[in-house]
Amino acid sequence: MEELLQKILEQNRYRVKYGRVASYIPALAKADPGNVGISVANMKGQLFTAGDCCVKFTMQSIAKPLALIQALVDRGPVEVFRKVGMEPTGDPFNSIIKLETLNPSKPLNPMINAGAIAITSLIKGKNSSERIERILKLVRLMAGNESIGINEKVYRSEKETAHRNRAMAYFMLDTGVLDGDVEDILDTYFLQCAIEVTCSDIANIALCLANRGSTPAGREIVPAEIVRIITTFMVTCGMYNASGEFAIKAGIPAKSGVSGGIMAVVPQKMGIGVYSPALDPKGNSTAGIHILEDLSAWLDLSIF
Ligand code: GLN
Repeated sequence: MEELLQKILEQNRYRVKYGRVASYIPALAKADPGNVGISVANMKGQLFTAGDCCVKFTMQSIAKPLALIQALVDRGPVEVFRKVGMEPTGDPFNSIIKLETLNPSKPLNPMINAGAIAITSLIKGKNSSERIERILKLVRLMAGNESIGINEKVYRSEKETAHRNRAMAYFMLDTGVLDGDVEDILDTYFLQCAIEVTCSDIANIALCLANRGSTPAGREIVPAEIVRIITTFMVTCGMYNASGEFAIKAGIPAKSGVSGGIMAVVPQKMGIGVYSPALDPKGNSTAGIHILEDLSAWLDLSIF
């Protein structure tokens, strides 16, 4: 397996030059665009790695499905989907347009920024620190890594510059999608985006989802019914407005983030974490996408 990972990684390394590291969150611009790493965790929990699998990066949008798990555990699907829809948008992840044009106003799904901010507001806790502690607890359990924490610099950098997310949140306060302390809700969102991990952590989290919510040793962390909802969203909305193309080309439930990470779940087979911070114009890792497509072709991983 490691030989195959190495080979696929080397074949796709050149693609980093066709992407750009995200810079709208200033701290993300410091990433090394040459980094490429992959980790695969099989059903026994064994890890196979290649390249920069130990470089730390922040989850960014990869935290969205995890926050959604916590909201579903806390509130149940009826309450959650009263606030946020289940449909793909076809728009960029940070688009604001449909918040006003759709009536009744409701973010289309939990994988776009507006939807994720609304989801974060549903997590139980009296303030941002209580909510982020609960998300972190879930992430650490799924990853089997107690040392996972927050990258303070990235968190602060996003908090200082998140004018668009702030605009969406206040818009949602106006339309009744959000209620409560908007700055505190946004704070939880910025903190969850700044959770710091490696490809191997992501592979282990994905493995928990691949194993219907349980650790390889059989301990249930997430109810299987919630895992089904999460992996379905990953297929329809996980790669932003490139989700359809990725479903055809790779056929694996996946969630990307603007730091360049991608979490991919192959049900009953493996969890995959990929990292390469150079992004295409839609915000997906250029090398990362192709590495997953190639791995899927080599190992026949498409779920379709
Ligand atoms: N923190 C980022 C933002 O809100 C997450 C977006 C992403 O990874 N696509 O803009």
